[in-house]
Amino acid sequence: MHSEKISAIGASAMPRGHALLTNPALNKGTAYTERERDALGLRGLLPPRVFTLEEQKQRALGNLRRKPNPLEKYIFLTTLQARNETLFYRLVQDNIEETMPLVYTPTVGQACIEYGSIFRRPRGLFISLREKGRIAEILRHWPVADVRMIVVTDGERILGLGDLGALGMGIPVGKLSLYTACAGVHPSYCLPITLDVGTDNETLLKDPFYIGLRQKRARSAEYDEFLREFVEAVKTVYPKALLQWEDFGNTNAFRLLEENRKKLLSFNDDIQGTAAVAIAGLIGSLRLTGQKLADQRILFLGAGEAGTGIADLFVAAAQKAGLSEADARARCCFVDSQGLVVKNRPGRPLAHHKIPYAHDRAFVATLAEAVDALKPTALIGVSGTPRTFTEQIVRRMAEFNANPVIFALSNPTSKAECTAEEAYKWTDGRAIFASGSPFDPVTLNGKTYTPGQGNNVYIFPGVGLGALACGAREVTDRMFLAAAETLAGQVAKADLDLGRVYPALTKIREVSLKIAVAVAEEAYRENLATAPRPADLEADIAAKMYEPVYHDLV
Ligand code: NAD
Repeated sequence: MHSEKISAIGASAMPRGHALLTNPALNKGTAYTERERDALGLRGLLPPRVFTLEEQKQRALGNLRRKPNPLEKYIFLTTLQARNETLFYRLVQDNIEETMPLVYTPTVGQACIEYGSIFRRPRGLFISLREKGRIAEILRHWPVADVRMIVVTDGERILGLGDLGALGMGIPVGKLSLYTACAGVHPSYCLPITLDVGTDNETLLKDPFYIGLRQKRARSAEYDEFLREFVEAVKTVYPKALLQWEDFGNTNAFRLLEENRKKLLSFNDDIQGTAAVAIAGLIGSLRLTGQKLADQRILFLGAGEAGTGIADLFVAAAQKAGLSEADARARCCFVDSQGLVVKNRPGRPLAHHKIPYAHDRAFVATLAEAVDALKPTALIGVSGTPRTFTEQIVRRMAEFNANPVIFALSNPTSKAECTAEEAYKWTDGRAIFASGSPFDPVTLNGKTYTPGQGNNVYIFPGVGLGALACGAREVTDRMFLAAAETLAGQVAKADLDLGRVYPALTKIREVSLKIAVAVAEEAYRENLATAPRPADLEADIAAKMYEPVYHDLV
């Protein structure tokens, strides 16, 4: 995909002079060679010294580190991205542990909240209800015709922050940067989209500087028609694109996925990506405890997209390990905002996606009671509600488990169900802990524990790369299971020794490549790949990965 791109820029189309310096895809700033400066009308527009990409990176890194807080660092990075894409990706890729929390969670949450006030240059497409009937035309306004990867949100459930309306654009922008940095999907293939269907966030509706439509969210038929038109328009304008549904409210997320997954090459990262990363963490934890997947009992706090997505993938994995579907489902229980999800629960009828996990057992109202009643081996927090894994609950988990699995996955950090320090402290260091947003290592009684970050970034870039590389017609749950197993297989003994059930983020490109290969293999197995199978799948996909380096322009 990479080499095709470079040769596609013919000599006649090559911008010159100032136009070249303001083209982020081609801009090299002070790194243009002497020859390029003469041939492309750049003489005088740049200071005389020619720098290397490495020198530019070091300078940019220094500037980044001098910024006083994460939001300023985020602004610095987005400005760099808009100026010089190659340098931005070199910097992000080579310093991924430092930059990931800035480009993505937790800083991206803050950036979304403040998106209106930090808004400098638009990035991506905003398609609002006002454009109904003209969505295909708006998609064609994007300057690149060959889009392959779309991340779209309607801003209703941004991370654990709720309805941020049009401010949610920070999420598709951030996720697509990760597709490039972590899996080498070429930046020009990537299109972030925000569908502005209004917002129910009263603060935003009253904010005189809010950038989106100042009206309540469209629901029911109006929403459905808008989304249907959007899906048709994407299929027509960008027939080769893979679309990732991102941060939709859960009433729409499940529906949109089910209605469209066979019509449009698409998946939902909050449901399927989260599921794969959590199941990979669970498989990783078994390597620490020596237990079997089919023996696990999982209690979820939060029965939304993330929770039921993880449970569904657990069921698929447990079935593969020999359990019946019913036995596998019985091993997953949920506590939501109304208490334990059980059959015939009093009050509101259960949402459709919870019904497969509404078991025939006694209702209890709280998580603490549910832990007592069910004695789970793993506690997975996907509620968006902080501080819900209390000392009493975590200590109880450590009473009946030698190594309780405690995954506090709610994002951003402020929403985590408990901190890494709490999980280790309350279990005397026996917990196998992972979180959605990063936590620093914790030292307890002289031993240092390094918590793993159950971040979807381990999964979605590789899945996207694999699906695109083989021309998949559909992204199936089996592909996500293959991705989870592959990710778990990438956890080294050294990671496990640190207490971490995920590989180091510094290995993310290798991990994404392995996942891409596993996803493509699965696509070939399921007869869903349209590209001819190359002799060496891994080498073929590796060659397609974008690498941020400068190419000679003359
Ligand atoms: P969702 O809105 O679909 O579901 C939230 C669920 O939590 C609902 O079932 C709700 O009833 C329940 N809930 C809310 N407050 C509760 C409380 N006090 N007690 C019990 N249950 C409560 O949201 P989602 O997409 O499932 O995401 C939930 C959280 O998971 C978010 O914070 C999100 O950031 C996080 N998440 C993390 C990752 C990751 O780290 N890999 C991925 C996806 C989502």
